[in-house]
Amino acid sequence: MLLYLLLSCYLQFHQVPVLCYHNIGTAGEDALHISKQHFYEQLQYFYDNGYVTITPDELYAHMNRGAPLPSKAMMITFDDSHAEHYTIAVPVLNKFHFKGVFFIMTVCLNKPGWLTTDEVKDMASQGHIIACHTWDHPNLALHPTYSIDQQLIKPKKYLEKITGAAIRYFAYPYGAWSEQVVKDLKQVGFIAAFQLDSHQQSADTNFTIRRILVAGKWTGSQLKEVMNKAFNLPITTIPSQNGNY
Ligand SMILES: [Zn+2]
Repeated sequence: MLLYLLLSCYLQFHQVPVLCYHNIGTAGEDALHISKQHFYEQLQYFYDNGYVTITPDELYAHMNRGAPLPSKAMMITFDDSHAEHYTIAVPVLNKFHFKGVFFIMTVCLNKPGWLTTDEVKDMASQGHIIACHTWDHPNLALHPTYSIDQQLIKPKKYLEKITGAAIRYFAYPYGAWSEQVVKDLKQVGFIAAFQLDSHQQSADTNFTIRRILVAGKWTGSQLKEVMNKAFNLPITTIPSQNGNY
């Protein structure tokens, strides 16, 4: 009983840090932009300090079945299908033996400045994880009349065709979720979904997995401080907050 209480307390207060990157190597440094150099330095910091990236499957097994994780487990995710995720992020991830999780909005694929289907396939074949970020990035929580077929089913099937693997994980555009969206995701076969910086919800932790946006200017140790604060908070039941990303 004591062990159970200790374990449940630990699980309640300790969440695996999940980072979210968008543009890499483009102009400006803010929550959506990071230089190539700072991206490299942040990942080098995690590598030098013994962090290990885990996959969504490993996180899911940990959250739902108590499967053990490395003590310095973290997840590195990328949103919105930017071309530099393949040209810049993947080589850096590979150098440090990290696995990335790429949330793809399928409308962009094969357009200039965005990932191609061949690149997505290659990323999956290198062991990186491909996941879904709708067709064209609507705020699903604000627009509940969205087409489930267009925004969830077709993108999921398209990514499955490209990668040859089941697509089970989803990231909410703008981090915006609602009970209705969670219900729709479950219905079409997703098993977990990632939001942004709202607190993880005790009611359905699988579908409100928390991430933080990484500021391009942070050094590795500054990022670690933010991570420690953000992911050691109690899981609460505050209402969802719509992010801007
Ligand atoms: Zn997005």
